[in-house]
Amino acid sequence: MVKWPGPFPLYVDRAEGAHFTCADGVDHVDLCLGDTGAMTGHSPAATVARVREQVGRGITAMLPTADASVAAGELSRRFGLPQWQFTLSATDANRHVIRYARHLTGRPKVLVVDFCYHGSVDETFATLDGGEVVARRGNIGAPVPPSETTVVVPFNDVEALEAALAREDVACALLEPAMTNIGIVLPDDGYLAALRRLTAEHGTLLVLDETHTLCAGPGGCTAAWGLDPDVVVVGKTIGGGVPAGAFGLRADLSRRLLASVELEDVDLGGIGGTLAGNALSLAAVAATLTEVLTDDAFAHMEARAVEWTDGVQQVLDETGAPWHVTRLGCRAEYAFSPTAPHDGAEAAASDDFALQQHLHLHALNRGLLLTPFHNMALMSPATTPADVQQHTDAFRECATGLFAR
Ligand code: PLP
Repeated sequence: MVKWPGPFPLYVDRAEGAHFTCADGVDHVDLCLGDTGAMTGHSPAATVARVREQVGRGITAMLPTADASVAAGELSRRFGLPQWQFTLSATDANRHVIRYARHLTGRPKVLVVDFCYHGSVDETFATLDGGEVVARRGNIGAPVPPSETTVVVPFNDVEALEAALAREDVACALLEPAMTNIGIVLPDDGYLAALRRLTAEHGTLLVLDETHTLCAGPGGCTAAWGLDPDVVVVGKTIGGGVPAGAFGLRADLSRRLLASVELEDVDLGGIGGTLAGNALSLAAVAATLTEVLTDDAFAHMEARAVEWTDGVQQVLDETGAPWHVTRLGCRAEYAFSPTAPHDGAEAAASDDFALQQHLHLHALNRGLLLTPFHNMALMSPATTPADVQQHTDAFRECATGLFAR
């Protein structure tokens, strides 16, 4: 069981924009937003209109619609990768990418960073224990020990990366450009450049999972920080709440995949899945990317996140709470340590479930839902300054109660 702070589940009767109403009629500011699935705000009008129209024109035919070009074209423009395959989720996308990376490189292993999360993908449920790769919570039913499939390194550790890649058995390095699933851990200056250089030197594909880090801007961290990955994975919010995932590839990689089909008679095996890229989800992705998650929307979302962060910092200053606040684009978080963590283990060390539950329950009682497992807030195009202020007021009240001097 994942520990979930609060009296869950809350049954949602209706969700709209940045709010939802529970079955008992209580309104909440939604700062969790479906853990990114609804970063667009709930039921964005343009997505809903296109989906309604598409429902009348057929939901799935296992053939692309014109929206496939619109959606893939928009992802290409944002992430600088020309070829995109749609899937039903980010988990699916990661699973396919790992298979293709193994096929393309002829290597067995996947490199991940300790305390990562990339969906329920067997290879990624591994952790370090005294330098050994061992199974991690969530690793159930895996057919082989994780040490046979996975290399694990701490985030921000260039030496460990270099040693791991030098063995030249790693098909792909799969990681978030900034960690978001153990709280937010930002990359050190130069870490991502070293990652790019070392993966290229050792023939390992660099896969950036931007499922959450799309919060950094319209083209995720890839565009915001000028990164140059071989593969990018996206999911969750790209369909405005309708299930969709995708991965983009460098042109030469997709050519090599196609060549193995055409020249070597290789069967790539269920690319994306039967319903992947169905007409409904492509309509949703095309509308969401072109009309909802626009540059203007991201500017609005980031402005709200800056207000949220400033409000939290002000309260930390007033109360002397020994915590810090971090922001990545429109996602922000406070954590129970005075300074920002440098890797997943440091971030995990500051976890305090009882304290977190106290803050979450206080927020819930003031009509606010934070992202469970973290003290994290996500802003949508529909989030208002008043929504943010409601959080600052509730946080001040709670932190003052804890740290009254
Ligand atoms: N990648 C990252 C970075 C994630 O955080 C998650 C889910 O939280 C996933 C992939 C899997 O997404 P989904 O559960 O929508 O397949």
